[in-house]
Amino acid sequence: MSYNINITKVEQSKVDALDFDNIPLGTTFTDHMFICDYENGVWVNPRIVPMGMIPTHPAAMALHYGQAIFEGMKAYKDAQGEPMLFRPDQNAKRLNTSADRMGMPYFPEDLFVEGLKELVSLEHNWIPPKDGSALYLRPFMYADEPFIGMRAATHYKFIIMASPAGPFFSKRIKLWAEKQFIRAAHGGTGEAKAAGNYAAAIRPTELAKAKGYDQVLWLDAAEHKYIQEVGTMNIFFKINGAFITPKLDGSVLDGITRKSVIDVLRDKGFEVTERLITLKEIKEASQNGTLEEAFGAGTAVGIAYIQEIGLEGETIHVSDESPVGLEINNTLDAIKTGKQEDKFGWMLKTRKELA
Ligand SMILES: *Cc1c(COP(=O)(O)O)cnc(C)c1O
Repeated sequence: MSYNINITKVEQSKVDALDFDNIPLGTTFTDHMFICDYENGVWVNPRIVPMGMIPTHPAAMALHYGQAIFEGMKAYKDAQGEPMLFRPDQNAKRLNTSADRMGMPYFPEDLFVEGLKELVSLEHNWIPPKDGSALYLRPFMYADEPFIGMRAATHYKFIIMASPAGPFFSKRIKLWAEKQFIRAAHGGTGEAKAAGNYAAAIRPTELAKAKGYDQVLWLDAAEHKYIQEVGTMNIFFKINGAFITPKLDGSVLDGITRKSVIDVLRDKGFEVTERLITLKEIKEASQNGTLEEAFGAGTAVGIAYIQEIGLEGETIHVSDESPVGLEINNTLDAIKTGKQEDKFGWMLKTRKELA
């Protein structure tokens, strides 16, 4: 289906004021945003407007009952400066998986991709040119109906914002294996990219940081025995030459980086198994010298190499280098910036705006 996206442009772009060598993290936004409203059972009025405030009623249901979900993805430039999106169809699908769990309406997947393409085309000057930089895109949906009471809202907004992000230098990280707090339980909302999951993770993450760790290693809710994920990334371990990653059991987020890493690893001839992984077996592998690498995988940082895992009274040493993790990170970067053939068919090209 083809949509009529109404575009209102700013009079003067702010892009010239941005120092691409020093992009403040998460506080810089491009000139425009994409918005669409849900009313009377349909999505209406898809439009691109100048970035700015949105009037919100204090009874907007998202503020009280938490119907709020989001996505995160990046736009890159190829050698010719043409903007490209990495697997946007996967984000469109996942948004609807989240919407389903949170009792929210589906957003048309073709309009999701169309909105992204239009916005990225318009904002192509905001895609940072440096290696490792990208234009971060944040599609999200929330209930904006003013209503006090417990039911699904009938009015929602879907918005896409864009924020340039500088290169991320991945230092080796230390994880805190969390046994007091949990991120997700069976039957809960762990597989949804829901704002509330993050709210519940903030305090445990602060406590882990106060202990000197970078991220929380989340364990299963029932027994605190099985590894789920790390911070806001999925996790991979290399033991005896083969890779393992926690299987998707409804409480682990279905990461797009995760599935891409699995494909790239298999393509390079590595064995990858998705299964339950206990903290105990990782500890034993560390002790008997078969634990070779571990890394987190997510859109924001790509691959985050893991040095050690701390738990009450002990430390599991993982590794001091991650040659395969590094190779996978480089391969993904090369595909995303058109330096390497897109053999998996992941990249969606859009165009520079014909001004
Ligand atoms: C978004 C997210 C991930 C990573 O997903 P990507 O699609 O790879 O960015 C992993 N875990 C959690 C909890 C997340 O919210």
